[in-house]
Formats: sequence, structure tokens, C-alpha cells
Amino acid sequence: MSKHQLVTNNANETALLGEKLASLLEPGDVLTLEGDLGAGKTTFTKGLAKGLGVKRTVNSPTFTIVKEYEGRLPLYHMDVYRLENSEEDIGFDEYFNSHGISVVEWAKFIEEYLPEERLNININYDEGDSRTIEFSSTSSHFDSVISELRS
Ligand code: ADP
Ligand code: MG
Repeated sequence: MSKHQLVTNNANETALLGEKLASLLEPGDVLTLEGDLGAGKTTFTKGLAKGLGVKRTVNSPTFTIVKEYEGRLPLYHMDVYRLENSEEDIGFDEYFNSHGISVVEWAKFIEEYLPEERLNININYDEGDSRTIEFSSTSSHFDSVISELRS
């Protein structure tokens, strides 16, 4: 399925990209976020939350694993880093099958629970404050999201 890569030059640009993506999402969409610590996964999610109309401040959910926010659609912000080497299922299906938007940082650690249809987002460090952000879709819905994002 389709892929799209672009570069952001500061944190604000990454957040704006998240905000733009939010306007293209549909109920129940699942997004995965990969990238090293400090790459910008939470920064991207903050922008996405803003785009979903979330008023509360979005912080990293590392210690709680899931944080829920009210917006135009509910936002489930997960950071599953702590589940590396763990089989723990915190009820992922319920989140993924609901009408809210799920965003999963370090999704590779819960690979077995992820739905097939999702938008995978990879953030890579470049020089300084530049980041290469790659979107890859696993469904026709996310193919169209990517093509809207490019335009
Ligand atoms: P992660 O959730 O991936 O660990 P964070 O979003 O918490 O990362 O942190 C990213 C850090 O990098 C923030 O301090 C942010 O200001 C900084 N930063 C610098 N340039 C960028 C960029 N282009 N995109 C995102 N964050 C950036
Ligand atoms: Mg984070």
C-alpha cells in the first residue's frame, strides 16, 4: 500500500502535521508511531490532539500506558514502551474497536494486538531539529488519507 515521506525542521512543523492528519481521520482509526526516544512521537500526538479539538494538555502516557482525551472524537494516546517483553493485554481490542482515534507510541511492542488496518508513522532523526517522517498505509482508507496529506 502507499507510502509518503517528508521532512519537518522543528517541533512546531511536526505538531502541525499531526494537526493536519487529524482533520483526515475517521472514527476508529488506529495510528502507530515508531521512532527513538525524543524523535517526536508525543509532539506529533499533541498536534493531532489539537486537530481533534482536545482542550486538555497532552503529555506522555509512559507511566499510565493509556490516556484518554475528549475531542471531536475520543483520543486514546498509548505509550506501550513499558510492555516490551511483556504479554500484558490491557484491553487493546476495546480501544481499537471503538469509534475513538488510537495512537500507539512504540507499537512494535504490542504487534500481536494491532489491527490489520492502520496508518504506520515512523519518525527518524536527521541533523539537528530535522526529522524525516514516513507514513505507510495498510488499507485503502489510509491510502486516501496519505494522498490528502500530500496535497
Ligand atoms: P518521543 O515521544 O518520540 O520520545 P517527544 O515528542 O517527547 O519525543 O520529544 C521530541 C523532542 O524533540 C521535543 O523536545 C521537541 O521539541 C524536539 N524536536 C526538535 N525538532 C523536532 C522536530 N522536527 N519534530 C519533533 N520534535 C522535535
Ligand atoms: Mg513519547
